[in-house]
Amino acid sequence: MNNVLVTGGAGYIGSHVVKQLLEQTNTKVTILDNLSTGSKITLDTLKNIREYEFIKLDLKEFDEVELVLKNNSFDTIIHFAASIVVPESVENPLKYYMNNTVNTTNLINQAVKYNVSKFIFSSTAATYGEPINIPENGIDEDYSQNPINPYGMSKLMSERVLIDTAKVNESFKYVIFRYFNVAGADINYENKELAPRIGQSFPNATHLIKIASECACKKREQMAIFGDDYDTSDGTGVRDYIHIDDLADAHIKAIDYLKHNDSDIFNAGYGKGFSVKEVIECMKDSTKKDFKVSIEPRRLGDPATLISNNSKIKSKMGWTPKYDDLSLICQSAYAWENR
Ligand code: UDP
Repeated sequence: MNNVLVTGGAGYIGSHVVKQLLEQTNTKVTILDNLSTGSKITLDTLKNIREYEFIKLDLKEFDEVELVLKNNSFDTIIHFAASIVVPESVENPLKYYMNNTVNTTNLINQAVKYNVSKFIFSSTAATYGEPINIPENGIDEDYSQNPINPYGMSKLMSERVLIDTAKVNESFKYVIFRYFNVAGADINYENKELAPRIGQSFPNATHLIKIASECACKKREQMAIFGDDYDTSDGTGVRDYIHIDDLADAHIKAIDYLKHNDSDIFNAGYGKGFSVKEVIECMKDSTKKDFKVSIEPRRLGDPATLISNNSKIKSKMGWTPKYDDLSLICQSAYAWENR
């Protein structure tokens, strides 16, 4: 039986991974979260699936973190806990370098010390920066990494710490996932018509599909498109949106993958891009709700286009997306918001 520590397990992506671990495997799960953005309600909902341990702790408490690793024989750490808002990282870079790079470095250090053999890390397409001459099939894992914001750089630095550490510690392996744009909410496996049990609870949302879903259910009166003068088909930013449950599934696969394979890096996306305008139209169409949209200036730190090449995760890990459908993503985000 696997014994897995999930940092940031009360957060958006972490909680969907925990949900799948509890539902689909017999893994022993421990969640470590400081609840700064994670949700207590989500933790309660997860308890209804199956028992797990919860430790309320900030990763900056190095001594406490060491005790947690010393007192549990984790074989795997799935590390989500991080700050994730691009514009905030531009305003407050040290928050990102401390929360993301420094705390991750300490966690890796403790993981090696206490014989954790597998480390699954949430990285980001933001490490690719502002891609120029994007290949027709999207950005692959070997594409150059030149982050244009501190968020992306804080994650790239953590990637490097992991890679260098694994080079000299044979029994320590990693999977790095570079997430593209994650959206949507829990699809109930037994009945897709049921309302999502968990979703994105982070207050003061900044992510596009979350904001559009808030508009569709009238929690917000209007929203803005940040820039319509990009070098894209309609002038608005283009991103590769992946459903949260497909992304979570990749993490479950990664645990087994590392039992039989070497450390590796995988893009997690669907390999196709939608513009901000297309996403907003899709939210309106798929929910049959209209709302006001204005055009505002570009947002700090935003690249024009980010689209993955996902051949590697499909061929090497055998990952097959189930929810590659923008309307389904929008509908599930809306269903969660409108619950
Ligand atoms: N965006 C927008 N209005 C919003 C939120 C986001 O126009 O209210 C745009 C943003 O400029 C980017 C895309 O939507 O081009 C995706 O942004 P998001 O914050 O969802 O994710 P990011 O790619 O920054 O991680």
